[in-house]
Amino acid sequence: MRGILLFGPQGSGKGTQGEKLSAWLQLPLVVTGNIFRSNIKSGTALGQLAQGYIQRGELVPDEVTNQMIQQRLAEPDCVNGFVLDGFPRSVAQAEALHNFTTVTHLLHISISDAEAVRRIAERRTCVANGHVYHVLYNPPKQAGVCDSDGSPLQQREDDTETALRRRLDIYHRATEPLLNYYRQRQLVFDINGEQLIAKVWTDIQAIFQTV
Ligand code: AMP
Repeated sequence: MRGILLFGPQGSGKGTQGEKLSAWLQLPLVVTGNIFRSNIKSGTALGQLAQGYIQRGELVPDEVTNQMIQQRLAEPDCVNGFVLDGFPRSVAQAEALHNFTTVTHLLHISISDAEAVRRIAERRTCVANGHVYHVLYNPPKQAGVCDSDGSPLQQREDDTETALRRRLDIYHRATEPLLNYYRQRQLVFDINGEQLIAKVWTDIQAIFQTV
């Protein structure tokens, strides 16, 4: 069983690398932000609850998020493990996670805030499934169209500079302290996210070839 957490600030490449890792290890990719966004799009009760928090760049309350993740990880495709992007984001969420599953690896992809701001300004996301692109560094084959599913690409509502600054601030205050929690359990693998996408990917593969 492999319970893999993708960890790093906005724009560090979790989405891009998570897609590769999930395909390579044949494990489902669970992305909390995408689950929220698809619920918002289809107008579910969960979506209505989460919408305001997400637009403002704030965290959705734990009682909503924890339950959503617990249910998702209990689905049959997660029996051999999962690649989880976006959870946990606080020590309280990490403690909740430990009550219902096992974490075996935390991949910490680090970039500076300045690089995060540069990347997010040019990030484009596919409307249907949240596949991510960068206008210069990782462009789609056809401008404005997702390579994977052909759906339109757009800029996320919370990828504005104001919401991004708030999200980075929450990352540093509430999420980053989690690294100590997982370091004490010797589960952290540090990766330099300010390299080319292909190099970050070979660094990640190396972790699973040796461990
Ligand atoms: P992301 O796509 O990971 O940047 O997440 C987008 C937004 O979804 C965040 O800014 C939060 O509002 C919400 N969100 C995602 N994951 C969590 C989480 N673990 N706890 C609370 N809110 C979350």
